[in-house]
Amino acid sequence: MSQRKIISPSHWRRRWQRWGIGVCRLSLIGLAMAALAFSQKTDEDDPTDLRVIAMQHFPGGLMDDQAEEGFYAVRDAESTTLGWITRSNPAARSILGYAGPSEVAIVLDAARKVKSVDFLSSADTAGHVEKVRRDVSFWQQWQGRGEAALGDYGQPILVSGASLTSDSIARGIAARFGSEGMDRFFPDDWKLEQIKEWFPQADRRDDTPRAGIFTVHQGEKMLGHVLHSSRMGVQERGFQGSSDVLIGIGVDGRIAGVLLLGSRDNEPYRSDVTDELRYDDGFRGRSIEEITRSKDQSEFLLVSGASTTVRSVYGTVVEMLRRWQQPPTSPALPWQWPMAALWIGAGIWLGTRGDKRSRVVAALMSIAAGIALGLLVGQDQWIGWARHGISWRNALPMLALSAVALMVPAFTGKNFYCSRICPHGAAQTLLSMVVKKRMALPAWLHRSLQHLPWLTLLVIWGLAILGWQLAFAHAEPFEIWNTGFIAFLPAAIFTIGLIAALFLPQAYCHYGCPTGALLKFLTHAPARWTRRDSIATVFVVVAWLVRFVV
Ligand code: SF4
Repeated sequence: MSQRKIISPSHWRRRWQRWGIGVCRLSLIGLAMAALAFSQKTDEDDPTDLRVIAMQHFPGGLMDDQAEEGFYAVRDAESTTLGWITRSNPAARSILGYAGPSEVAIVLDAARKVKSVDFLSSADTAGHVEKVRRDVSFWQQWQGRGEAALGDYGQPILVSGASLTSDSIARGIAARFGSEGMDRFFPDDWKLEQIKEWFPQADRRDDTPRAGIFTVHQGEKMLGHVLHSSRMGVQERGFQGSSDVLIGIGVDGRIAGVLLLGSRDNEPYRSDVTDELRYDDGFRGRSIEEITRSKDQSEFLLVSGASTTVRSVYGTVVEMLRRWQQPPTSPALPWQWPMAALWIGAGIWLGTRGDKRSRVVAALMSIAAGIALGLLVGQDQWIGWARHGISWRNALPMLALSAVALMVPAFTGKNFYCSRICPHGAAQTLLSMVVKKRMALPAWLHRSLQHLPWLTLLVIWGLAILGWQLAFAHAEPFEIWNTGFIAFLPAAIFTIGLIAALFLPQAYCHYGCPTGALLKFLTHAPARWTRRDSIATVFVVVAWLVRFVV
């Protein structure tokens, strides 16, 4: 006779209490983020920062107090105009890099040619921003260009290893000077002239109900189809990012040609692949099946020294053709998304097992994922989202990771992110296995130091609520996994934390990590309202008061 498990009423009461408290705590975090979102003052009408930059470029000049169409004139003592200065916001505000938008000042000389482009602020991670700030050729690329040419995004020089940040700045400048659609990676649409070689008689193009797929016509006669990768939502990453590919398909179902419209990869790879397709297009005349079934990309596209760009372009072509043949119900995912999903899923599964082998497997997997994907949740990211919104295109894996980090502890009382997913926690776990002799801090020191993560968390959020535009990524070591050793503070916290982990297990987690503190807040006393909940409530109330008063 089967025995039914009887769940006592008190068990259910405890479970409901736990969920109720979890919802309250998540709501407190949500309310703090909402207060942050509403407390953002726009200082775009305050030209103080522009005045400082104007004085650097026009020593002795005087900047007007009022702008005309966003341009502040800088004049000499005789009122002769020396030049102008303007900022990329508000046009650049919706153009997001890794974590948020960036803002620059554009200084024009008296002939309205660019004298300088200067950094103002960025919501991106400090390491990426630092890489961009140090790259002289990136900033010099606009010098001497006339104002009328600045709305042309063209093919900007991007900074390797900080391509999203540098790209968002380049797009922000183009947007400031009138270019539309800059919040898309490939804003330019294709034109009939670009496909003349494939369809010489084409005089019209029509949209189809399927995004990114067009028909081309001569009068009423249909000549074929054109597939546009960025409008189909097909992205396959090369060195720096995806490529924008156009494919022509004749009415006979054969490939009329493939064109590389744009690529986020650097030169000379981008030009090499563009030229190869233009002058020796290996796809032309092939059937779709030949391409999608082939295991050898070199049959169609071979450019020595540009293998990564070639792989991404070839992968894009194959995916576009696959979708053309079998319309999918959902857009294809960049390779990071399934990998991130796999990692998170495996982390949760391993989190349900308490044995040492699971711990080691999870740690190795997390470190590999951390190196490959560079995804770690952190306060800078969450504050950036609250302040600037989320770029859904870039942020989906990070959103999933954040959802797991926050929701699982709130509802289960278990912190799977820290125990099995966080690459930095995993690195500490493995290091603590290297040295057998463990240290223990004196009780008084342990008691004092364990408050540090909470204090750091409160300070970070307090400053953010007060509107301080600081690089909060500097308070945590996580961006090192993504950018390498660029910014000093994260590098120092990273190094010291990992060395300490050799002797003091999870030293950084226990005595330094504000993100860990926030997650602990969700898991502590799962079914009980505690002093920490009261403190968090007071914090949120004060944050909202600040939001109305400041
Ligand atoms: S406490 Fe911080 S470093 Fe440690 S595992 Fe959690 S998030 Fe990662």
